[in-house]
Amino acid sequence: MTGSIVLFGPPGAGKGTQAGRIVSLTGKPQVSTGDMLRAAVKAGSPMGLAAKEYMDAGLLVPDEVIIGLIEERLQQDDASSGVLFDGFPRTIPQAESLEQIADVTSVISIEVPDEAIVNRIVGRRMDPETGEIYHIIFNPAPAEIADRLIQRKDDTEVTVRARLAAFHEQTAPLAQWYADRNLLVTVDGNNDIEIVASEIQEALKSL
Ligand code: ADP
Ligand code: ADP
Repeated sequence: MTGSIVLFGPPGAGKGTQAGRIVSLTGKPQVSTGDMLRAAVKAGSPMGLAAKEYMDAGLLVPDEVIIGLIEERLQQDDASSGVLFDGFPRTIPQAESLEQIADVTSVISIEVPDEAIVNRIVGRRMDPETGEIYHIIFNPAPAEIADRLIQRKDDTEVTVRARLAAFHEQTAPLAQWYADRNLLVTVDGNNDIEIVASEIQEALKSL
């Protein structure tokens, strides 16, 4: 299958958790704008420093910045047969720009109600060595790595509410935008991780 896949959903839907399996199934590299922005923040680049203000406030980083990052990423060799976008696009202008530079063949929307999101986000932990995502209750890390887990600065209850508001206002309308183009497949993300994974696998088979 050539072309790119978009993983779509609110913060905490499980996009990052499911992305690794989709990468194994399809061979397409994962392109996460959130991970790219966090790398820029860590490197202390001017762009990273500017993006950090938005991220810490739970607001979307301006479209021009995001589109610039994606244009650069898609020029790399491993992107030539399509990629798995995770957390991008998040606005209609981002999707319109993407349409000019990549062939999106399907958009998998992981649907999770707001009530479930807050608990997922505040309990999220990450292994800085492997990038693996865990949850203190829903997906606990092995005891031997528990000490090195980190919590994202924006994974607080106050910030997640701002991120959810941004999702509903700026990102959710994209679902209809992609449905109008017959690209949208929805899966119920309010199930166990393994059940969501098999639903996504089924959806990918039918593409
Ligand atoms: P996203 O990339 O969409 O923001 P993540 O994959 O980082 O979401 O998941 C957010 C949090 O919810 C993580 O702590 C993860 O372990 C947990 N999680 C992911 N999928 C599920 C699920 N199906 N049920 C319960 N918790 C989940
Ligand atoms: P989550 O899926 O948990 O919301 P991400 O790692 O995808 O987290 O994004 C973290 C933050 O990075 C977002 O709250 C936002 O500030 C910024 N960000 C990531 N991707 C985009 C994007 N495509 N457009 C605008 N801002 C983005």
